[in-house]
Amino acid sequence: MLTEPHRRLNRLTGEWLLVSPHRTTRPWQGQVEEPVIEQRPSYDAGCYLCPGNERAGGARTPGYQSTYVFDNDFAALKPDTPPLQVDVEGLLVAHSERGVCRVVCYSPRHDLTLGEMTSDAIARVVDTWTGQYAELGAVDWVNHVLIFENRGAMMGASNPHPHGQIWANERLPDEPARELHQQQAYAERGGCLLCDYLGVELEDGERIVCHNEHFVALVPFWAVWPFETVVLPRAHGGTLPDLAAEERAGLADILPRLARRYDRLFGVTFPYSMGFHQRPTDGLDHPEWHLHAHFYPPLLRSATVRKFMVGYELLAQPQRDITPESAAQRLRDLPED
Ligand SMILES: [Zn+2]
Ligand SMILES: [Zn+2]
Ligand SMILES: [Zn+2]
Repeated sequence: MLTEPHRRLNRLTGEWLLVSPHRTTRPWQGQVEEPVIEQRPSYDAGCYLCPGNERAGGARTPGYQSTYVFDNDFAALKPDTPPLQVDVEGLLVAHSERGVCRVVCYSPRHDLTLGEMTSDAIARVVDTWTGQYAELGAVDWVNHVLIFENRGAMMGASNPHPHGQIWANERLPDEPARELHQQQAYAERGGCLLCDYLGVELEDGERIVCHNEHFVALVPFWAVWPFETVVLPRAHGGTLPDLAAEERAGLADILPRLARRYDRLFGVTFPYSMGFHQRPTDGLDHPEWHLHAHFYPPLLRSATVRKFMVGYELLAQPQRDITPESAAQRLRDLPED
């Protein structure tokens, strides 16, 4: 239906996306990157996340069995930052920001990825994320907890050991703030934005990638990145701790299945940034917030050809050629193992 150039509304952020489906046959004449051949040992003596190894600053990673969480040795935020306000003529405006930055090791094995771990092992990662959100969110001055992962050198991950990060901080960051505003505005008309959106997507089916009894992975109608996906619980809930035990098992089932599809798409350990958007922890109820995870992978056409956010994207708005529908079909048609 949408075969000509058009704009799509990102219902979650209120931002627009330009789609140019007619350009998908355009030949590629830009940069081609060399694929990174990854051959990793199960233990690396030089890896600070492998059990028993020393980290920068002298701390030692213990001999852990499943997951391991520690305060980032190079934290971007500190819990004891003193309060400070700057306001020069309303033009130079700044304020201090407190926070806690942690690292979550998914496995003692250096060589695994989310797609290579068993659902049982990932269930322990989900339990760890759940406990961390509850613990950090309970700190009185922490108003937002972001659990995320950068995977692959292309996304700036400095270490291939399977791990993610948690940044908990004082104020709601911009992206969750946009999503909060959109979900609140929708709820004022009645209903939950993402419950209703998931209903429309399940009815349509064209952008669904994979699903189980409790979770659905799909390429959102407004996806900016070529193979961007969102993972949504079927039942309404705002946080990982809101999930029942069988729902957490459903999340541990769908994450590696989605990751394996990504890894198969271009025959390479797929780089991505992923993260969970959960209810702010500012003490308010936020019944409108619907838990979800985003996957933002940069690859466009092969293991070496990535999408860049440049030119029109930087100066005007995001744009894509390959449609979300065709990206979903390619991911959907891949085997999961
Ligand atoms: Zn390691
Ligand atoms: Zn909902
Ligand atoms: Zn989100």
